[in-house]
Amino acid sequence: MGRVIVVTSGKGGVGKTTTTANVGGALTTLGKKVLLVDMDVGLRNLDLVMGLENRVVYTFMDVLEGRCTAEQAMVKEKHAGGALMLLAASQLHNKQDLDLDKVKEAVAALSTEFDYVFLDSPAGIEHGFEASSAPAEQALIVVTPDVTSVRDADRVIGLLENKGVRNCSLIVNKYDRTLIERKKQLTSDDIVDVLGTELVGVVPEDKAILDATNRGDILVLSQSTPAAAAYLEIACRLEGDETNFSALSTGHSLLSLFWRQK
Ligand code: ADP
Ligand code: MG
Repeated sequence: MGRVIVVTSGKGGVGKTTTTANVGGALTTLGKKVLLVDMDVGLRNLDLVMGLENRVVYTFMDVLEGRCTAEQAMVKEKHAGGALMLLAASQLHNKQDLDLDKVKEAVAALSTEFDYVFLDSPAGIEHGFEASSAPAEQALIVVTPDVTSVRDADRVIGLLENKGVRNCSLIVNKYDRTLIERKKQLTSDDIVDVLGTELVGVVPEDKAILDATNRGDILVLSQSTPAAAAYLEIACRLEGDETNFSALSTGHSLLSLFWRQK
């Protein structure tokens, strides 16, 4: 059975979809087979971030409602040699249409074919969040260094604990060292102190992310930049590598090494 991980936050626009695509992509560079499921029904984005929007025929909702098989609905990412697959969200339904039992059953069946299944949660704490977290054994909480994001993350961590998802890890995204130095952002230590949750990675603010998204490429599979190095570090940590290397130094050279070997 593969690991089922929900990527969530409470707040919108903090980087859940970007994180799902890049952490999933980074795991394929470590030899893992990964499925990404877009749970943002009605507002799908993951297909765009992966550059697969023109290849989507069926959606996860079609699988849940029996209109096709999961194999028919899954779309293969183009740079990962078949190791990275997407199940897109329906644009025509709304989040209330997700049947929790069917979602759990379908994800459990899919997890037998992959090392990792990531569920890209919508913003909010309503039904879409419920459906994304119901099948998960683990959560990656994406938070940006501002008080509103941290407060929402705190609420989400409490809700996940109530549901029995106790394995929560934090990703601090859009970290900007110049703002931290000017004391205009919370530090990752501040955030860990407030939330009392293990930190699994810090991803810097990186313009290359938007450029990659606009090209339809997953950053970590197309370029070696500081954010790409941070995603690779997160993937290593998920794989149990507890080495305390810095995302912006050793991680960066690790990624360069990976690109030289390709
Ligand atoms: P969410 O899924 O939480 O709504 P997205 O992943 O869609 O958030 O990201 C929201 C916006 O922030 C997108 O334009 C994305 O390109 C941008 N973004 C995400 N992470 C970073 C980062 N580390 N540096 C710069 N831009 C980022
Ligand atoms: Mg999103």
